[in-house]
Amino acid sequence: MGKTLLSTHGLKAFYGDAQALFGIDFHLDEGEVVAIIGANGAGKSTLLKSLTGLVAVPAPAVCLHGQPIGGLPPGEIVRRGLAMVPEGRRLFPSLSVEENLRMGALAGRQGPWTLERLFQMFPILKEKRRNPSGALSGGQQQMVAIGRALMSNPQILLCDELSLGLAPIVIREIYAALPTFTAEGLTVVVVEQDVSLAQQVSQRVVCLQEGVVSLEGRSNALTREQISEAYFGLS
Ligand code: ATP
Repeated sequence: MGKTLLSTHGLKAFYGDAQALFGIDFHLDEGEVVAIIGANGAGKSTLLKSLTGLVAVPAPAVCLHGQPIGGLPPGEIVRRGLAMVPEGRRLFPSLSVEENLRMGALAGRQGPWTLERLFQMFPILKEKRRNPSGALSGGQQQMVAIGRALMSNPQILLCDELSLGLAPIVIREIYAALPTFTAEGLTVVVVEQDVSLAQQVSQRVVCLQEGVVSLEGRSNALTREQISEAYFGLS
């Protein structure tokens, strides 16, 4: 595994007076796939939003290559190489597949990910490139959301609940693309509700519980008991 790309240091996050994260120390090494798991409301989305500037945090609480990036505007964070696939996809439904994909390149960087490269990976998107994205199936829309994030040519891809509302066969198809991303040098974070899927697709699992890290370890070494305890707080 490579050197540390991204790190958080005692990261706290608030929505007004309500605190959602209570001092998270997290790191991401070059080339790895990390899965973040945890029950509803544990703070998984808030952690991703803190990394990408969607939730304001103090500058030194998030570092990229050792440089503080906490609280920078989201567009600046995209230019520095972080891209997010948001929960619920958030496409522009009346715009075509191709227009949604091109949107991702606007704020981004140069790199291997182009429309043609994405169409190779997800051929169905080439077929439907002129269709409104809102007319696609849920799985196809998720491919567009992933493609839009890749079009900014990130170093780090942050995926929030890719599997939400999708059929198991579609979920497998989408996760099957992850090795292609890492082969291109990407580092990937997936937030995933399905714990065994999270373990299968990642090298490392981080479990959050009520805004703190309750467990962290190699995906293939963690036992069901350890995870249940960290997930639900059972003891
Ligand atoms: P889920 O699986 O339901 O998406 P999560 O682990 O991603 O859960 P978060 O969405 O990060 O959890 O929520 C963490 C805490 O912050 C919860 O207590 C939630 O109620 C609160 N929270 C999240 N978004 C907001 C918001 N916009 N305003 C106020 N509180 C919020």
